[in-house]
Amino acid sequence: MKQKKFILQESELPTAWYNIQADMPNKPLPPIHPATKQPLGVDDLAHIFPRECCVQELDQEHDFIPIPEEVQEKYKYYRSTPLVRAYALEEALGTPAHIYFKNESVNPLGSHKINSALPQCYYAKQEGTTNVTTETGAGQWGAALSYAASVFGLEAAVYQVKISMQQKPYRSSIMRTFGAAVTGSPSMSTRAGKDIITRDPRHPGSLGTAISEAVELATTTPGCKYTLGSVLNHVAIHQSIIGLEAEKQMAMAGEYPDVVIACFGGGSNFGGIAFPFMRHNLKDGKTTEFIAAEPESCPKLTRGKFAYDFGDEAGYTPLLPMYTLGHGFKPANIHAGGLRYHGAGMIISQLIKDGLMHGVDIPQLETFEAGLLFARTEGIIPAPESSHAIAAAIREAEKCKQTGEEKVILFNLSGHGLIDMTAYEQYLNGDLINYKISDEDIEKNLKSVPQ
Ligand SMILES: *Cc1c(COP(=O)(O)O)cnc(C)c1O
Repeated sequence: MKQKKFILQESELPTAWYNIQADMPNKPLPPIHPATKQPLGVDDLAHIFPRECCVQELDQEHDFIPIPEEVQEKYKYYRSTPLVRAYALEEALGTPAHIYFKNESVNPLGSHKINSALPQCYYAKQEGTTNVTTETGAGQWGAALSYAASVFGLEAAVYQVKISMQQKPYRSSIMRTFGAAVTGSPSMSTRAGKDIITRDPRHPGSLGTAISEAVELATTTPGCKYTLGSVLNHVAIHQSIIGLEAEKQMAMAGEYPDVVIACFGGGSNFGGIAFPFMRHNLKDGKTTEFIAAEPESCPKLTRGKFAYDFGDEAGYTPLLPMYTLGHGFKPANIHAGGLRYHGAGMIISQLIKDGLMHGVDIPQLETFEAGLLFARTEGIIPAPESSHAIAAAIREAEKCKQTGEEKVILFNLSGHGLIDMTAYEQYLNGDLINYKISDEDIEKNLKSVPQ
């Protein structure tokens, strides 16, 4: 009998996260203050984020960072996640490639975001914080944070993009079930929200409005810290648990990946699965190829520009060195809500610049086609975000069919799609379309990048 699924014993779970910053040939450039243009230090960031997260954010020295025991305990509720050989998908494709996926949909919240929500809440609690706040679009991060806050006895306040809250009501129910206070953004509860509503009473909300409100709450409320579910370096560090487990599980399968693939929003699940393997490219002469799959409608990796830009629409955050489409970029309303971000994380941006990984952009319809094939072969309905990784893996497997190569392909299944069935419904009804953006539109949006 062929083994399909590889799982680690509790005693084999990683006890330290991997920090690729320590091994990068060129370190990521620092975030800078928009007014003074000075690099930001831990103290500048620590009035918003938990201090330990800020230390990790700027740590270019330690390759492994111990996972606090309390966090390891919480990880045990759902880790290890299975590494699965996708035999049925391989057979349907008729490819000689060996396809593996790491199933991060198997946890109480259904996406990888919980891996960073737990340590962020743990550190907040350790530092005497009583409240955490954040923004969320489609709601995966908000849901993970709400759960983690309840685990560590913190109050959570989540600003959810108003239009997403109306379109995806179940995610706000999930957040409230875990005890979070959920507010549609823009709201009348903050000065930023009031200003936005005064200017535009029917504003549908955006990640930009929600970030502004959450940051304002954190900076004006004693004992309240802001948290972020993607883009930042410390989030990628926490997510390395995915790749560190996968490394051991691939060894159990007796294989090593030639290609590692993940979908790309801000880079956390990509960094999570890729960096522990990239370490062996950097240190041990391995030659694995790393592919980040982004939506054709939000192509910052393949068509963006490397520049210092704001992390949010309103321009409240520090300036971050990244591949960006411009912070004013308004992506089409595709169903992979988690991939609609204008910029890439600082580590990833440097790695792309240095040619150590690359992006591919995938049209929306191809992702749903891939998601359906995956559901019908492997029995799991993937999140629309994750379907970008599946589509990229299928492209690689098809290439192997042409060349006859038996490549080992590993991709991350970042989440399941069971709360995204309206998207599948629309696809099945033939109501979805592709959104390719023109060079002129990209040029126009890049004008919002500060000079
Ligand atoms: C948020 C999310 C993503 C995108 O975020 P990254 O930081 O790029 O990983 C991808 N998949 C799922 C299921 C998500 O919830």
